Amino acid sequence: MKHPNEKIMRELIDYTAKKSGRQRTGCFIVQSDRIISKAISTVEKYKDPTAHGEMNAVRKICRKQRNYHLKDCWVYSTQIPCPMCTSAIVWAEAKGIVYGWDGRHTWGKLDIDPKTILKKARKNIEIFGPFLEDACLKIRGYKKR
Ligand SMILES: [Zn+2]
Repeated sequence: MKHPNEKIMRELIDYTAKKSGRQRTGCFIVQSDRIISKAISTVEKYKDPTAHGEMNAVRKICRKQRNYHLKDCWVYSTQIPCPMCTSAIVWAEAKGIVYGWDGRHTWGKLDIDPKTILKKARKNIEIFGPFLEDACLKIRGYKKR
């Protein structure tokens, strides 16, 4: 499968909108042409500052596979991953990231461009986005600024 994949991203947008009441970030982990992990942000629900959608999706599949590597996987997120999630994706050695909208102002507590983190990583991790940005913005009722 070629990335970014529109079918996968559209499915992620639907999943996130349905699961989250249009308030959260959603994430899929994709291995070859299969979605192997799905999650949304649960920060407020579980009072866990690390429970972003990407962190939840990475944790879920790593526990299931009993392996902390995602070497041949792509991480799809409705929003550009924050520095914490980008770092987790680096630790997991994923193949690439596809993100929907460039919403870094929503996690502006730590103003480090995720692309800078990826440049510092030993392994080359591709990043592609914004992808289907308008549809991803709509999940949260936002419009392009
Ligand atoms: Zn994050």
